Amino acid sequence: MRFRMFITETGDAPASARGSADSQPAPPPELETVCRVARAHFGTAGAFVARAEAGTQRVLAADGTLPAPLPADFFPSHVEGDPSADRRYVVHRANGSLQNDDSLPHAPQIVAACELAAPDGTTLGTLCITHDARLTLDAAQCAVLRDLATLAERALARTIDEAALRDRLGRVEEHSRLTTLALTESGTGVWDRNVETGEIHYSPAWKAMLGYAPHELSCRIEDAYERLHPDDVDDVKAAMLAHFERRTDSYEVEHRIRCKDGTYKWICSRGKVINRDDNGRALRMVGTTTDITALRELAARLRDSAALVTDLTDQVPGLVFQLRQAADGRRYFSYASAGISDIYELTPEQIARNAETVETRIHPADLVAYRQSLHDSSLRLTPWRLEYRVLLPGQGLRWREGDARPQRMADGGTVWHGFITDATERKHIEAELHRMATTDHLTQLSNRHAFMRQSEAALRDVRATGLPAAVLMLDLDHFKALNDRWGHPLGDRALRHFARLLLAETRPEAIVGRVGGEEFAIVLPRSDLDTALAFARRVQQRTMQARLMHEDQQVELTVSIGIDAMRESDFGAYQPLSRADKALYLAKERGRNRIEVYRA
Ligand code: GH3
Ligand code: MG
Ligand code: MG
Repeated sequence: MRFRMFITETGDAPASARGSADSQPAPPPELETVCRVARAHFGTAGAFVARAEAGTQRVLAADGTLPAPLPADFFPSHVEGDPSADRRYVVHRANGSLQNDDSLPHAPQIVAACELAAPDGTTLGTLCITHDARLTLDAAQCAVLRDLATLAERALARTIDEAALRDRLGRVEEHSRLTTLALTESGTGVWDRNVETGEIHYSPAWKAMLGYAPHELSCRIEDAYERLHPDDVDDVKAAMLAHFERRTDSYEVEHRIRCKDGTYKWICSRGKVINRDDNGRALRMVGTTTDITALRELAARLRDSAALVTDLTDQVPGLVFQLRQAADGRRYFSYASAGISDIYELTPEQIARNAETVETRIHPADLVAYRQSLHDSSLRLTPWRLEYRVLLPGQGLRWREGDARPQRMADGGTVWHGFITDATERKHIEAELHRMATTDHLTQLSNRHAFMRQSEAALRDVRATGLPAAVLMLDLDHFKALNDRWGHPLGDRALRHFARLLLAETRPEAIVGRVGGEEFAIVLPRSDLDTALAFARRVQQRTMQARLMHEDQQVELTVSIGIDAMRESDFGAYQPLSRADKALYLAKERGRNRIEVYRA
C-alpha cells in the first residue's frame, strides 16, 4: 500500500502525568476540528497540527493522511514564506515529484505550513496541510489557513495556561496537605476567628485534639470561652485584649481547655490579627493551638525530680557539690547544696562565679595542700580526697573532709562531683583514740609502745646528725614495800607524782615514758652523758625531797637510774635501752638510790 494513514499520538495523557510540571497537557479538542475543517475546505489529503518536542515533531491532532516520517522543520530555508504575514507561514509550491507526474498517486506531502505562536511570541506548534497532488493556494485560501491557525493557537495557548494553573494549584494543595499533616502530627490545630461576627472555625485536627469529630462543635466564640478552665479565663481574655489593642505583636497564652469527655488539656494557643479596619479594630484573627499536656507533665516530672535531688542533697549532712574547672584553670561551683552555709559559712551565690571565695575560708596551713590536691586530681583524673582545716567566722577552727570524682569535659576542663563533710568530731575522736593508744592512763606519759616508737625516731636523728642522745632507765626503789605499807592508792599517787616530777625536769623535746609498773625511761635528744648525769642527779634529789604525804606522815621515795648514750651503730632503740637497763641493775645491786653509767 502506498498511502499510509498517520496514527496520531494524541489522546488523553496518563492521569499521573496530568498537572505535573514536566508532562505535556492533553491537546485541546478544537485542534481536531481545525484539522477537519482545513482538510474539507482545501479538499486535500490531510491536515494536522504538530509540536516540536525534543528534536522531533509530535502530532497533536490530524485528519486524513500524513507524510511519514515528519520533517524536523516545516520551514526549510529554500522555501519562501510570505514576508507580509505576521507569522511564519509558507506554501510549498514546488514539490518535485508532484510536478513531474500528476497521473500517479503519490505519498502526501506538506503543501502549506503555518506557525502557531503564543501571545509572547514563543512557538506552540504548526498547522500543516498535506496533499498527494500539486496544489496551489490562492490569497483567500491562505487567509483561511491563517484564520484556522489563529483558532488552533488560541486553543493551544488556553490548554497550556490551564495546565500551568493546574500545576500551580497542585503545588498549593500539596503544600497545604503537608502543612496540615505537620500541624496534625505535632498535635496542633488551626482556628480562624471573625472578630466582628464572633464566629470561630476550627480545623479537623483542632477538633480531634479535644476529642470532637469534624462536624461537631459550634462556631460561636461564646461557646469557645465556655470551654476554658474557669481559672484561666481571665488570663486568656487579657492576652487577647492586649493583642487586639496592639500592645503585643501576637497572642500567645498557655491554658487549660475542656475536652469532649470533660477532662482538661493544657494547650498553647498562638494567634495574630490578620485584618483590621481603618480604626485599627481587629476584624479577623487566625492561630494555632498545640496540645502541651504531655510537655507540661514532663516539665512537672523534671521539676519534681530536680526538687527531689535538691531536697536530698540539702538534707544530707555536709555539702554536695559540682565543681568545674575551665580549661584556663578558673574554678567555680556549678552546684552547691544548702550545706554550703554550714561547711564554709557561704551562700551558693558567693561561690557560683568564683571558687576562690572558698579559699578564704581554708586554714592557711592547709591551703597549699588544698590547691595541690585539686590540681593533681584534675591532672591525673584521680579521686579528690582531702582532710583539711577551715577557719570560719562563726564556728572557728573546724576540720573538713572532701571526697569527689573528676571527669574531663569536652573543652579540656574538669568537673568534680562530690561532697564535703564536717570531720571535726571524728578528728577529735581520732586524736583521743590516738592519745589513749599511746599514753599511759595513770601518769599521762607515753606508754611503752609509743615510747619505743619515739626512741626509734631519736636514734634516726642521731644517725642523721651525728649529735649525741642519752638514754635513762629509772626504777623506784622498794615499791612493793611502799604499796604494802601505805596501800595501792598511795602507790598510784606516788607514780603520778614521780611522772610530774620527770616532766618538770625535762625540756619538751625529751621523750618520757612509763615502760613498766614503777619503771620509767627517758631519751634526752641532743644531750651527752654529762648532761644526762646532771639531769639524773636532779631527778634523784627531787625524788628524795618529794613531799609525798600519807595523812600526816611523809612517804619516802628513792629512785635508781641507769644511763647510756645512743650510738650511731645501734640497730634499734632497744639496744641503748638495754644497756641503760644493765646500768640500772648495777645501781640496784650497789644499794639503790644510785646512778650508774653503762660501762661495757
Ligand atoms: P626494787 O627496789 O628492787 O625495784 O623493789 P620493788 O619492790 O620496787 O620491785 P618489784 O618488782 O619487786 O615490785 C614492783 C612493785 O610495783 C610490784 C607492784 O605491786 C607495784 N606496782 C606495779 N604497778 C603498779 C601500779 O600501777 N600501782 C601501784 N600502786 N603499784 C604498782
Ligand atoms: Mg621494778
Ligand atoms: Mg622497783
